[in-house]
Amino acid sequence: MNDNRQTSAEPAPTSADFRDLTLDEVEQLVASAGDRAYRARQILHWVHARGAESFDEMRDLPAALRSYLKQNFTIGHPVSSFVSSSTDGTRKLLIRLDDAEEIESVIIPTEKRVTLCMSSQVGCAMACEFCATARMGLHRNLTSSEMLAQIFAARRELNADEELTNYVFMGMGEPLANYPRLIRTLAIMTSDWGMGISPRRITVSTVGLVPMMERLLNETPVNLAVSLHATTNELRDRLAPINQRYPLEVLLDACRNLPLKRRSRITFEYVMLAGVNDSIADARRLLKLLAPLRGKVNLIFYNPMEGSPLRSSSRAAVEAFQAILKNGNLTATIRESRGLDIAAACGQLYAEQHIPA
Ligand code: SAH
Repeated sequence: MNDNRQTSAEPAPTSADFRDLTLDEVEQLVASAGDRAYRARQILHWVHARGAESFDEMRDLPAALRSYLKQNFTIGHPVSSFVSSSTDGTRKLLIRLDDAEEIESVIIPTEKRVTLCMSSQVGCAMACEFCATARMGLHRNLTSSEMLAQIFAARRELNADEELTNYVFMGMGEPLANYPRLIRTLAIMTSDWGMGISPRRITVSTVGLVPMMERLLNETPVNLAVSLHATTNELRDRLAPINQRYPLEVLLDACRNLPLKRRSRITFEYVMLAGVNDSIADARRLLKLLAPLRGKVNLIFYNPMEGSPLRSSSRAAVEAFQAILKNGNLTATIRESRGLDIAAACGQLYAEQHIPA
């Protein structure tokens, strides 16, 4: 585990919420309260490892420090959550934040893993044609504390034999458009003073905000997924309009030069749309585009959205596409849709159903 003391790039903390703070910040705060530095780790252990929700629980702190903290700080925000369960074991959490905005997170159990799909923003500004979250527009960024609240909420919903093993920022929002708070969240998740999660178990998915991709991998060794979806600028301009700012050649050139760890590869997500991007010619172009870099492809069935003329490619078409990539020595997996019956699948997160009062 790494003792991420970083990062100069972060804005000065203005939060009084302990779930937003890094070790350095808590040390300063403890010092200004007149106590010893080691108390900082003690407090953060209560907050992140033991899931304390009040300072009163921290019985091994001096009473004076506890009452100082109580008067000046909070631990997390009150959130309430509402769970829908899919027949396939997927569970969607609808989480209400203290300004009544709502976000969704998804618990996805598979044979060997339990993955938590996390949101990074309320809504999204990226306007991808096929994504339900895009329809909300961007309401606001999540704070680190709110991103982490999804983990605490998910843990409460797990069965006794389950434990979260993987974390993917593939829920609502574009994580790299909320960079300072994302990097702070990742520091808290991966540090020994925080949650102690290995960065290898965390994946950040981006529509392709090139400068931020480079910064991310320079600052933390998490996995990167890039939502590609098209092999020509003409089509990608339409499906993912951010392509007009960072066209394919710029995006892929940046991917080629990213500081990847040894043996790690970038995952390229590709939503399969019937008659749009799923032809044999598309597969061949994709192969060519990705040949110069260390990547693998994750083919995703398109999950339908009301009012959209887009349709998913057939399983046969997805498999034929996959076969071409494999024959060209490019690793390509197929992502099965999970949680379709509760609108928890990729691109379906759209906080429309509200928590019953
Ligand atoms: N903004 C980030 C992360 C959120 S989206 C990104 O763009 O990567 C997570 C994945 O779900 C992306 O690959 C996205 O393209 C995909 N997705 C969006 N809408 C979808 C839909 N209707 N069906 C299937 N996948 C979808």
